[in-house]
Amino acid sequence: VKKVKTTLLKKKLWELCKQIIRKRHGNVCYTCGAAGLEGSNWHTGHFITKSVCSAELAYALENLRPQCYACNIHRSGNWPAFEAHLIRDKVDTEALKKRNQETKGMLADNFWYVNKIAEYQVLLDIS
Ligand SMILES: [Zn+2]
Repeated sequence: VKKVKTTLLKKKLWELCKQIIRKRHGNVCYTCGAAGLEGSNWHTGHFITKSVCSAELAYALENLRPQCYACNIHRSGNWPAFEAHLIRDKVDTEALKKRNQETKGMLADNFWYVNKIAEYQVLLDIS
């Protein structure tokens, strides 16, 4: 039962991440500049790739941007361009990498997800 609930919380939180990122950054691919993204070509990509992300970074808005399918899937997130553009936009990518290392062993329990969902719901409402 607990496992099912966490899965639902993760889904809900990811949905909020996607909506916030879309609202803030629109439908232009952050890494290649392709415009007019829509439907299944409008992804939300991770700078620090999901497979090596802590839960903290998997849902960190600083680590997420809109991407096209080609950049997110075929170019595995196109991270050289991702990093260059984050730096251009004054995001401290070294701090992100450090934060990922530091939160790797962090336990993201249901409480953590519920809190994050509440926090992002407010962000979405005001953004
Ligand atoms: Zn792209």
